[in-house]
Formats: sequence, structure tokens, C-alpha cells
Amino acid sequence: MSCFRADLNFCPECGNILPLPDFHNSIICPRCSFSIPVKDILGHVIKSSVVFNPLDQSSSTVESEEDAELKGPIIDRKCSRCNKEGMVYHTRQMRSADEGQTVFFTCVHCRYQEKEDS
Ligand SMILES: [Zn+2]
Ligand SMILES: [Zn+2]
Repeated sequence: MSCFRADLNFCPECGNILPLPDFHNSIICPRCSFSIPVKDILGHVIKSSVVFNPLDQSSSTVESEEDAELKGPIIDRKCSRCNKEGMVYHTRQMRSADEGQTVFFTCVHCRYQEKEDS
């Protein structure tokens, strides 16, 4: 079973490329109709991710947001922590409409983050 995940992309019966699981209960090979129950696959994936990191969902979301903040346009704003110019400009709409839009600046040198309410 060690190579089970690698085999997921291909039909174990005929080697045909399998479609991704959708809202169906199983992945069905379009060539030979071999089917794999999705719950078997999901159980396997969940088990391995829990071993890797129990706080999988919340922590991975934070990480991807930090990456996105470093990909925005860089402006000549001076970081108040390291005093170097060059901060990524990044806006985020707050959940409440009353609060409006908040502008975030992330230092590209030390990743210090500042925010300004507009
Ligand atoms: Zn097949
Ligand atoms: Zn800085």
C-alpha cells in the first residue's frame, strides 16, 4: 500500500489516466470502468495530513495569505522596524462594510507588517 497515492492518477487495471474525484462517490476509469471508492482515498489523505500537521487547515491558510502579501506591488515606503525602503502594498476588505478597506504594507526585507485604515 506504500505506493497507493502514486497509483491514484492511473487505473490499476489498464493504466489509463483517471479523472479527478468530483461529487461522485467513486472514481471510475473511462476505459475499463474500474471504480475506486472516494472515501477510501479521502481516508488515506486525511490520515496522512493529520500525522503531518493536526492544525492543517488554519495554519495553511495563514501561510498562503502571507505569501500573497509579498507578491503585491512594491512601493517606496520606509519600514519602521528596519528603516529600509520597499514595502509590498496590499489591500484587504474587512468583513464589516463600515470598516471599509484596510491597506497593509509588508516589508520585503524583514516582513514587518503595518496597516492603515482608509
Ligand atoms: Zn482502467
Ligand atoms: Zn523592515
